[in-house]
Amino acid sequence: MENNKTKLFVISGPSGVGKGTLLKSFLEKHAKNVRLSISFTTRQPREGEIDGVNYFFTDEEKFKAAISNNEFLEWAKYSDNYYGTKEAYVYKKLSEGYNLILEIDTQGAFQVKNKIKDASLIFIMPPSIDELEKRLRGRNTETEEAIKKRMDFVKCEIENSKDFDYVIINDNIERALDELTFVFEKEIAN
Ligand code: 5GP
Repeated sequence: MENNKTKLFVISGPSGVGKGTLLKSFLEKHAKNVRLSISFTTRQPREGEIDGVNYFFTDEEKFKAAISNNEFLEWAKYSDNYYGTKEAYVYKKLSEGYNLILEIDTQGAFQVKNKIKDASLIFIMPPSIDELEKRLRGRNTETEEAIKKRMDFVKCEIENSKDFDYVIINDNIERALDELTFVFEKEIAN
């Protein structure tokens, strides 16, 4: 019998781990039945970012009103900005026949799991924390304090990954992509 059920996947992992590249390849391979969820945020668009494509850009007043109205499946505050996933958006995509990927932080991931038990939480792990720190420093774009703050957050995210359903080490993009594909196919067959 054909399985028409669609599933929700949450993908978390420290920035600099190569999550973006991995997801881009994955989405190209599964363009037919997978979509990436678009979050709401109060942060300013970066150069090249488009409203409704990268994020739905909004302001703090509207975001807080949406929190009060219980419109978010999950939300978090990160570096003075709010980020969140609207519940109605998620159910709309799922009912349109798409499996949906949320690329959000671990706090948001746990909020999703609390509400949707069969969501799969996948953590993309850097092969080494030292390497990740080196890479961040190599960019030369941030102050020592900012790097320290970011590394503390990374360590906290890695700690939280213990409660994820799957952990994929991104030591090699092709191998990580195979593993992600394996997990995805196994989950949608269930
Ligand atoms: P950025 O500002 O670099 O686009 O994203 C910063 C962080 O916010 C990333 O770790 C990203 O995964 C997280 N993020 C983006 N959208 C959401 C969301 O809707 N909910 C939560 N909880 N985190 C989000």
